[in-house]
Amino acid sequence: MSGDRTRSAELAALTNIAAQVNCTQDLDEILSGALRTTLEVIGEESGEIFLLDDETGDLLLYTHQGVSEAFVEAESEVGSEECICGHALQAGRISTIIDMAAHPARSRTACLREGFSSCIRLPLLARGETLGLMGIQSRSSRQFNPEDEELLTAIGNQIGIAIANAQLIEDAERRRATLDGVMKSLVDGLILVDRRGRIAYVNPYAEEILGMPNSALAGQDVETMARGIAELVEQPERTLESFRAAVADPQSTPIVEFGLSAPVTRALQARFFPIRDTGGGSLGLGLLLRDITREKELDEMKSQLLSTVSHELRTPLASIKGFATTLLRDDIEWDPESRHEFLSIIDEESDRLTELISNLLDMSRIEAGTLRVEPEPTDLEPIIRETADQFQMMSHAHEIRLNLPRVLPPVMVDPRRARQVLRNLLENAVKYSPEGGPITISAQVADGRVQTSVADRGIGIEPKQLEHIFDRFYQVDSASTRQVGGSGLGLSICKAIIEVHGGEIWVESQAGYGSTFHFTLPLAQPPEES
Ligand code: ADP
Repeated sequence: MSGDRTRSAELAALTNIAAQVNCTQDLDEILSGALRTTLEVIGEESGEIFLLDDETGDLLLYTHQGVSEAFVEAESEVGSEECICGHALQAGRISTIIDMAAHPARSRTACLREGFSSCIRLPLLARGETLGLMGIQSRSSRQFNPEDEELLTAIGNQIGIAIANAQLIEDAERRRATLDGVMKSLVDGLILVDRRGRIAYVNPYAEEILGMPNSALAGQDVETMARGIAELVEQPERTLESFRAAVADPQSTPIVEFGLSAPVTRALQARFFPIRDTGGGSLGLGLLLRDITREKELDEMKSQLLSTVSHELRTPLASIKGFATTLLRDDIEWDPESRHEFLSIIDEESDRLTELISNLLDMSRIEAGTLRVEPEPTDLEPIIRETADQFQMMSHAHEIRLNLPRVLPPVMVDPRRARQVLRNLLENAVKYSPEGGPITISAQVADGRVQTSVADRGIGIEPKQLEHIFDRFYQVDSASTRQVGGSGLGLSICKAIIEVHGGEIWVESQAGYGSTFHFTLPLAQPPEES
């Protein structure tokens, strides 16, 4: 048979396969091309290439030529031990079978059904590892001779290389995709800078928090990026210097904190680190960007708490101490009116202290999630009237008006807490309308709930402050609220109390014209579904 084939045809076939292996990366194209060329040069019509599944050790049919659909189905997945192919694989070298009918392998039935009499099985190897197998069948009882075997072995080596390369590429691609996925899903911003100081990679979160698209960053040098960032920060010179120092010495994993004013105001932290290859050589540096706005806010809240609490404690304590010392002086005889006045001040200031402490306790219970409420069917009207009367007695500059319906259905609330919320809102309405004026408490049933509102005509709240006033320790203007007293805790406690009852609290306000605080509570008896 090989006598019909010239050496140059063999050489041409080998060159052809080698060229495909070198030129394309598409394993499909390489293997089907190689099979076609091999069958042509060997003078047969039917053949197939299997790849070895690393995990199961099975042979998976990858490409085929000149066989029926039934054969493909029978041979699509072959256990490597039980068949002719398996024997060749185990032997690790080319094997030929001249008379298939006489061969003991179990799976030869498919070959016999297809009318094949003889076959050759060629393990495909690369770097000493078996990666697959090529099979060629003949309908005649063909004796594959040593020249055939020599040629097929050379072809097999080429195909082995192609499979190994494809697996390497696939492996590298899989690793790259995993790494890319990890970098993209990082909850920190990541920027990678190559050895020449050029930005090689920016993950989506870094783009987002810097407000700079990848296209504006990638390829740029790190100095240009630092300048770009410096333009957006509150202290450009200082930030730029810190960035330069960090880039110059990433070994010490320096951290630069800066406040970005655009696209949104946020506090960011950049942590630099050197990137090294396995041999310890420098590949460049990395930059992890973290949004620390929330941490900064918490820090600020903590210091705010300390200063508020110490101020709020010190003021009443100083006046309690002052009036007590005054009353205790032996050298002065106070008339009953002055004594009464001093004692009333001591009494009021003690109340202020108690209230602050109970607010702080409530706050810590809210933080710990242990705020206890005992909701029960409660009539709000008497609570509203009582609280209004108390406040009316305390302030003559304000006129407390009520706007209540004839019947207000009971709500599900802890009565002590309902009183606390109402007191807090009224206290604020009085505090923040220093010129006096009417304060209206109204209540109505709306959407299956009772909505209570407290409206004043006081100083009002600027639109940009509105979203913050329910935050802990938030005071619109701590200097001026200090004068009227307050810890910035009241509204956040009201919000927690209302929400724990399943209600909502919100405010409508216009600076200079007054504010209306609304809160809702669920009805004790939910309305019947109509
Ligand atoms: P504070 O103890 O400072 O009053 P709150 O939590 O009760 O704390 O209120 C937070 C901030 O909301 C106040 O500092 C004040 O600036 C603003 N505020 C609350 N109620 C009113 C109101 N009725 N009118 C204007 N501003 C208000």
